[in-house]
Amino acid sequence: MSNLGLRQRDAATVAQIGKLRFSPLSLIGGRGNRLVEEGGRQLLDLSGSAGPAILGYSHPGVAEAVARAARDMAGASLLLYPNAPAVTLAERLLALTPGTGERRVWFGHSGSDANDCALRVVVHATRRPRIISFIGSYHGNLSGSMGISGHTAMTHTLPRPGVLLLPYPDMYRRRFSAEDVLAQLDYHFETSFPPDQVAAVFLEPLMSDGGFIVPPPGFLAALQARCRRHGIKIVVDEVKVGLARTGRMHCFEHEGLSPDVVVFAKALGGGLPISAVVGPKEIMDCAPAFALLTTAGNPVSAAAANAVLDAIEAEGLVERSARIGRLLQDGLRALGDRHGIVGDVRGRGLAFGMDLVADRATHAPVPATTTAKIIYRAYELGAAMTYVGLKANVLEFMPPLTLTEDEAREAVAIVDQSIADVHAGKVSDEQVASFMMW
Ligand code: PMP
Repeated sequence: MSNLGLRQRDAATVAQIGKLRFSPLSLIGGRGNRLVEEGGRQLLDLSGSAGPAILGYSHPGVAEAVARAARDMAGASLLLYPNAPAVTLAERLLALTPGTGERRVWFGHSGSDANDCALRVVVHATRRPRIISFIGSYHGNLSGSMGISGHTAMTHTLPRPGVLLLPYPDMYRRRFSAEDVLAQLDYHFETSFPPDQVAAVFLEPLMSDGGFIVPPPGFLAALQARCRRHGIKIVVDEVKVGLARTGRMHCFEHEGLSPDVVVFAKALGGGLPISAVVGPKEIMDCAPAFALLTTAGNPVSAAAANAVLDAIEAEGLVERSARIGRLLQDGLRALGDRHGIVGDVRGRGLAFGMDLVADRATHAPVPATTTAKIIYRAYELGAAMTYVGLKANVLEFMPPLTLTEDEAREAVAIVDQSIADVHAGKVSDEQVASFMMW
């Protein structure tokens, strides 16, 4: 073993293509809503590890369920044999996801493979080759899910043939209104994009990695109505914002949507890898042995997911994310009175962003260095944070839903101090040079 610190060993071994580093934080443990860095310092986690840590770290229910399932493993592959935790989980997901008629659940490992699967099955089942998605959307990092994403992180790959990327209407920067986008869609339908060739629209009910863009009221419902008229399936990507995070069990409930297919991942496993696609039997059973991943639906990950669903219910996390989310959002929004850089705080429940601006009148975003410096300073002051947005100017808030009121106040104080300290020049360009990865 080397004497180097974790950071240096990470830099020397783990490929750049598979990581985002926003600060020097290197982990040796985690308990509750705190991450433990090398050396033993504990930091308040405002990132939720980008979503999975819905219950924080080492939640006793998850730890116990995982230990039990691992001590007596009911196989290692749902592909070959049904196992009790996975079948129970499928039953529970069907019960908590609205829908009519016979439906089925597919299991994978990550949001990327789940969106990949959803894409492949809707195209195959409908025999329609085209897909609608949005500029700024992030549906995954595998060939299929990447090809229907519109995030700036995906510009090194080509879009899937037959995908139409629409602008996502943004009420803050107002480049495109909901009406503009619907008019664009109508025009595409009338001209080069025949709606009867479109299998599905993939949508994020709250665009997250694209910068926490809340859709204008009624926009997604109007889009859904347009698509329904043409038999186009509605696929809702709940990967980042689903399962109690936004003050509802499903984020799409805020928009009054009735999706055909719902995609879950991240929070579902509480940190263990598991994803799920829930959809109509005629789509999910469109062909036998069509989307096979050997260890998907393994009993350990499935047991973790069952424990997550138990905790959501037992700990009242739907109500809690709404309440703590309001407190945290209000506290951060109030910082706008003192810091001109705070342009907008928006999102739902405990899934929201702070949009940092160089100019409040024009809403011009700050450069990525400024965002990175605030995150760096927050790290020094004791909080783990990340950023999103197509211009890298949106601080992401995805803390565990178990965040307490005191911790929410602590978070506001750290962000307040970080912004003030960066304004005062306490973080240099050199310090953050390696922390702007997307
Ligand atoms: N969908 C959405 C909405 C996401 O935010 C992400 C990841 N940021 C994904 C899919 C991909 O999930 P994963 O990284 O678990 O593959």
